[in-house]
Amino acid sequence: MKKLLRIHQSSGMHWVGNGFPVRSVFDYNGLGRELSPFLLLDYAAPYEFPPGHEKRGVGGHPHKGFETVTVAYQGELAHRDSSGGGGKIGAGDVQWMTAGNGIVHEEFHSENFTRKGGTLQMVQLWVNRERDTGEGDLAIFARAGDSITVEAKTDAKLLVMDGEPIPEPVVGQGPFVMNSRAEIQQAFEEYQLGRMGEIAS
Ligand code: MN
Repeated sequence: MKKLLRIHQSSGMHWVGNGFPVRSVFDYNGLGRELSPFLLLDYAAPYEFPPGHEKRGVGGHPHKGFETVTVAYQGELAHRDSSGGGGKIGAGDVQWMTAGNGIVHEEFHSENFTRKGGTLQMVQLWVNRERDTGEGDLAIFARAGDSITVEAKTDAKLLVMDGEPIPEPVVGQGPFVMNSRAEIQQAFEEYQLGRMGEIAS
């Protein structure tokens, strides 16, 4: 049986854009080494959106230095990025986006979900990546050995994450997670100069 190291309380709810009422379950500030290779987890608990017309979500914003993993439990999202990637993420779907050397990203509810309204429930996880390795190399889920037993006393969803720690310094600011302050500064400059590309209109 694995030993439980700690139970971490999530933050209060805050809005990401006008579409995502999330709690930060953890982030790299303070828990960096224990969490590696995971950087941040935002959870949007079930939230009822009325039918609407206005787009809900966040428009173009940059990311650099990690990967975003979006898991939808309820509702439907539509993501696009400046590499030409994107798509709809419906209940039960997982989307993995590599920000790599810099990307511009937008995240909205799908048009259909906005129009009909309904319950949104989702997770977004930020995962560190080692340089010069293939995409997704960090997703090592089949580590053999110890068992985990969980007893849920109410309805619950359990998200189990497992990954090889990456022994490198983690410095983050806003949408960038790098290894040093200088690299963060560089990322802001690259974004301002338009080097992370743009999302096709
Ligand atoms: Mn994003």
